[in-house]
Amino acid sequence: MIDKYPKTCNLCGGTVIFTSNAVIYGQEYGSGRCYLCTKCGAFVGTHKPWSREAMGLLADERMRKGKSCATTCFISKLMKQPTAGGGMTLTVYP
Ligand SMILES: [Zn+2]
Repeated sequence: MIDKYPKTCNLCGGTVIFTSNAVIYGQEYGSGRCYLCTKCGAFVGTHKPWSREAMGLLADERMRKGKSCATTCFISKLMKQPTAGGGMTLTVYP
């Protein structure tokens, strides 16, 4: 069953945040909101009139080659805070 309000990534088990989809598209698009995994960068959009309801499962990077920079840069900002798990390495492209 699909969780319409995901808190945990269905791909990697990382923490999922509800945020603006401008971090992915460069500007807000559609509902303007998405769920984003802070660990692997997978995300899913939300339905427009019900902007907290996810459209489905989170989708990962393989589906969105060329869109990785915004997501990766955003995640790297989040990851400046030390995490309990630690040991994570992110590559940030200029
Ligand atoms: Zn993930």
